Amino acid sequence: MVWSLKKILKLKDIVISLFDIQLGNGRGILFWYDPWFENLHIVLKAEFGGVRIRRDFLNSSVRDIRDGDYNTLLRGILEGVRILSFMQTIHFNDNIDSWVWKVERDVKFNSNLAWESIRERGNDVGWTHVVWSSNIIPRQQFVLWLLFRKRLSTRDRLKRFMDIPDSKCLLCGDNEETMDHLFSGCPFTLELWRRIIKAMELAFFPSDWIDIKEMAILKVKVYHIWMERNSRVFTRVRGGVDDVWNNIKFDCNSLVRTWRRISKNEQN
Ligand SMILES: [Zn+2]
Repeated sequence: MVWSLKKILKLKDIVISLFDIQLGNGRGILFWYDPWFENLHIVLKAEFGGVRIRRDFLNSSVRDIRDGDYNTLLRGILEGVRILSFMQTIHFNDNIDSWVWKVERDVKFNSNLAWESIRERGNDVGWTHVVWSSNIIPRQQFVLWLLFRKRLSTRDRLKRFMDIPDSKCLLCGDNEETMDHLFSGCPFTLELWRRIIKAMELAFFPSDWIDIKEMAILKVKVYHIWMERNSRVFTRVRGGVDDVWNNIKFDCNSLVRTWRRISKNEQN
């Protein structure tokens, strides 16, 4: 019974991906459950950590939240404050909220387009096994999960919610802070990649090192870059490439030791 219910809920997600939501009066769209913001959920319950959300609050429509009925909880998280100010910029009208087929051709539902749309979605979630593997340090899972869902609050994203004086990258101070820049284009990050690649060539690892690399290097690196960036935002403490590199090495070593029985020699 539980199993078939899960199946049905999964289907619901697929069906939702075939629609675009158009806001009217905001009373027919569920704030928490419907992907009404750029085809995504604007905020996920997981972003509240362990805070319990009241059932009546969970059933709020977009309009309820905008009218301020239940929004104290949202003020408790950083993202929530931004969401609330973003909500103030939404213009509702008198029409009812509607779901529009995304997969239309000649004003008719098109099954080919629908299939293509579902198939792409399947490919998109290929990263889930990487994120939710039990081999990852848990505090890093959440950052990764946000990264893969493109939900990290990078400054280019923040700009959509609020006026910020500066959208430059905090690590190099040069380019706009987008996720692509932060994790693959930034000189700070590129220097870390260079060190990682160099370190790997020097070391001998068992053939399943691919797994370790995938789990440890990618995840640990992403996490530490994001933490360094946050430290610069929130505490003004600036670590250099060396500090971040040392943290990565430390965490990778702990992971390697936990997962595999590797001789001391090989670990070094
Ligand atoms: Zn940068």
